[in-house]
Amino acid sequence: MIPSILPTYSRAPMQFVKGEGCWLIEADGRRFLDMGAGIAVNVLGHANPELTAALTKQAETLWHVSNLYQIDQQQELADRLTEATFADTVFFTNSGTEACELAVKMARKYWSDKGEDRVEIVAFTGAFHGRSSAAIAASGAEKMVKGFGPLLPGFIQVPFADHDALRAAVSDKTCAIIIEPIQGEGGIVNVPDQCLKGLRDLCDETGALLIFDEVQCGVGRTGKLFAHEWAGVTPDIMMVAKGIGGGFPLGAVLATENAASGMVLGTHGSTYGGNPLACAVGNAVMKTVANDEFLDEVNRKAGLLRQKLEGLVAAHPGVFESVRGSGLMLGVKCKIAPGEVVSAGFAEEVIVVPAADNTIRLLPPLNITDAEISEAVVRLDRAASALKAA
Ligand SMILES: *Cc1c(COP(=O)(O)O)cnc(C)c1O
Repeated sequence: MIPSILPTYSRAPMQFVKGEGCWLIEADGRRFLDMGAGIAVNVLGHANPELTAALTKQAETLWHVSNLYQIDQQQELADRLTEATFADTVFFTNSGTEACELAVKMARKYWSDKGEDRVEIVAFTGAFHGRSSAAIAASGAEKMVKGFGPLLPGFIQVPFADHDALRAAVSDKTCAIIIEPIQGEGGIVNVPDQCLKGLRDLCDETGALLIFDEVQCGVGRTGKLFAHEWAGVTPDIMMVAKGIGGGFPLGAVLATENAASGMVLGTHGSTYGGNPLACAVGNAVMKTVANDEFLDEVNRKAGLLRQKLEGLVAAHPGVFESVRGSGLMLGVKCKIAPGEVVSAGFAEEVIVVPAADNTIRLLPPLNITDAEISEAVVRLDRAASALKAA
């Protein structure tokens, strides 16, 4: 018999009833150190007092109004985001997937309005942009698209880091190039700064719009507000979600005035996107994260975590291979199935997240303490020892 929850997820046996900072707690009091943060979502930890206060205050005042009316909290968040980034304008969504939908629509409408037949969107193998028809077509991965055809046409996948294939794929039919500055689901794979610069140049030459998917790597995760800032280039369109809501469903598409020029009155909408509850939390997240002192601390802690993970890899060469990633978005490539490492971590009450390419991911709350970083690596060390003994 089919379970009452559609069985698309393989769920671990833990059941958390409470969260506190970097900790998730079961009914019997067992405390797990959460290095996954709901997959890069809880940027300020669980039950953060400032976010709770912002959400509660808004809940007591006004939950929801339609986008048919002015929404102060939304205006404030849009102003914060445009002030802090390349973008001139923002549309709010409820998720990363919805941000992908709009990014694709925006890019196609841009060329349509110019009267040009440019609909092709170039994406990269190993990419993840969500689970909608557009997002799975962009990824092209067999496990995501199989059985869901006919797929949305117009997407081309280029092998990751294959410059010749990229040059060959981009033509006067190319509408946009979409890329995660750091692949998350793909296994924490950094795009080198010079490649992001190269993509920007290629887009400038050909006119194609550049879309950065910063759903996982954005909002302070890499020690800059957005990961592309490290490379010193900006996109035309950017997808944001996960961390921006700190656990409340919120996403956004940020764009330049030029890239957004096709999205005029009536061309897009959302019932919930940017509602007062979500934006009250988004503003509270931005207030803390879009701050140099906070980001300096993320960088310092990232250095500490990375150094300790390098030590872990050196201590367990039969289990681990190497550390990669950037900031507090780190991956450890494993020599055994990453699922086994994740399970061994659960036994030691530390949570990490599996990813593709035999990798485990560490994406802790950005306000994790030094002591918690040390404790997480001690627990992973015990997990790796238990795996070796088994
Ligand atoms: C999670 C993720 C998405 C999809 O976001 P949802 O909120 O799950 O729809 C898109 N792109 C990237 C890079 C992601 O990590």
